Amino acid sequence: MALVAAVEQLAAAAALADIIAIVRSTARAISGADGVCVVLRDGERCHYVDENAIAPLWKGKRFPLATCLSGWCMLNDQTAVIPDIYSDPRIPYDAYRPTFVKSMIMVPVHADRPIAAIGFYWGQIRAFSAGELALIEALGRSVSAALAAVKAQENLRESEHRLALALEAGGLGAFELQLESGAIDATASCKALFGKAPGEAFSREDLLAAIHPDDRETAARVLSAGPQPGRNAVYRLQDRPTRLELAGRLVLDEGGVPVAITGVVRDVTERFEAQEKHDALLGQLLRAARLNDLGAMASALAHELNQPLAAGTNYLKAAERLLAKDPEQAVRAISKAGGQFLRTKEIIQRIRGFVGQGQNPKTSEDLEQLCHDVLELVRVTTSNDGTQIYLKVEIGLPRIEIDKVQIGQVLFNLIRNAVEAMDGQALRQVILSVARGGDAIVFCVADSGPGLAPDIAAHLFMPFHTTKEGGMGVGLSLCHKIAENHGGKLWHEPNANGGATFYLRLPLNG
Ligand code: ADP
Repeated sequence: MALVAAVEQLAAAAALADIIAIVRSTARAISGADGVCVVLRDGERCHYVDENAIAPLWKGKRFPLATCLSGWCMLNDQTAVIPDIYSDPRIPYDAYRPTFVKSMIMVPVHADRPIAAIGFYWGQIRAFSAGELALIEALGRSVSAALAAVKAQENLRESEHRLALALEAGGLGAFELQLESGAIDATASCKALFGKAPGEAFSREDLLAAIHPDDRETAARVLSAGPQPGRNAVYRLQDRPTRLELAGRLVLDEGGVPVAITGVVRDVTERFEAQEKHDALLGQLLRAARLNDLGAMASALAHELNQPLAAGTNYLKAAERLLAKDPEQAVRAISKAGGQFLRTKEIIQRIRGFVGQGQNPKTSEDLEQLCHDVLELVRVTTSNDGTQIYLKVEIGLPRIEIDKVQIGQVLFNLIRNAVEAMDGQALRQVILSVARGGDAIVFCVADSGPGLAPDIAAHLFMPFHTTKEGGMGVGLSLCHKIAENHGGKLWHEPNANGGATFYLRLPLNG
């Protein structure tokens, strides 16, 4: 009965001190011993931390593991049963002589390995029955189990503590939201991010109320259905310019049914503001680069317009002469002149389409038409005659939502770079192709030029790297940014024939 009571108490022990106290107060009654000791391993020594005996034993003393019986017990993970201590060579007689001890049992106690021992001592030489030994060993096992539980709790507390420190250091807050009830268990740092004191109530409703009304609907959806993997949403707060990023995952029960969301929240206001500034700067650069391009284009454009204008004027002059003699011929000449002027109008319109300001609204675009417009722009603004430019468009491509001006600018830049890279070569070929690739559209601009210079390839999308006299070296970095703004990607691969190929991937649902 004493053992059962002790086992019950041990099961409720929350700390090592509790376990020692329980052993101290129950072990003698269980075993009928004249004294008990609790010994803890302390590095290479045995520490006699507590005792309950008819006369003092070794409480508070430390002995080397190799020289005392508790050390033997822990090192060998075995119970020592000694009916007569003076006939057992493991006993350090000098330490025992001043005590009442004549016989003893020592049991090891372990968490994952032996870390303690309990000594039971009697004042007379005696034999131990199997029943007595079984009782004492049962107590040893119960103490071991209690110690393992306490250690596990300590480890858990320690790792929770470390997690809290890491969360705090990273400016992160952690939470768990129960989907059905809407209750949230959140760290103090998480509550603080939402402007709540540690003791304040915090449920899904409280969290949503703290979010800016414009972002609330999305947040409500995420906090009911669970966040989309890999997509961390950023929310503005209602009363402060703070932006919080929320990452999390659904927790499923054994049946696979979502029951909760666990996640982390962090303040990304600074990063967001820096990104906004960065975007604004790139926007300005984009305009500057476009104006720079326009300067260079102007003379080529003048040349291009010159030809239909001169032809149109000549037709009109001829018409003037013919008017009296042959009105029918004159009308034909006037109509031809009209055709030429219409052509100049078309050229100007196409170009105007590519010089919008900054960001333009996304519209659903026919990609084949876009390619034709870009090539027309290349034709009228690039004075590199003799370059063969081919267009390959996959049949049946869907329309996609894009900023036509910006995407046109990317393709134009890529083709113009290709044309410029082949300057002075005998074979000058560019292939612009566009095809569907999974859930995206992939444009590809391949040239037969020399390929990228190694130091350019290493910093390809970093601004201000150029090999051209008068080049700004911002074209590709802007193109890269535009691709990203469309949820897409721009990358380069060297060609088998030594030239360069640039790929622009735009998601269909971007
Ligand atoms: P810029 O044209 O003003 O130099 P870009 O950012 O468009 O700026 O290009 C950066 C550099 O990348 C160019 O100077 C050139 O050296 C290299 N480059 C770009 N496209 C090609 C290409 N198709 N073939 C070879 N080099 C290229």
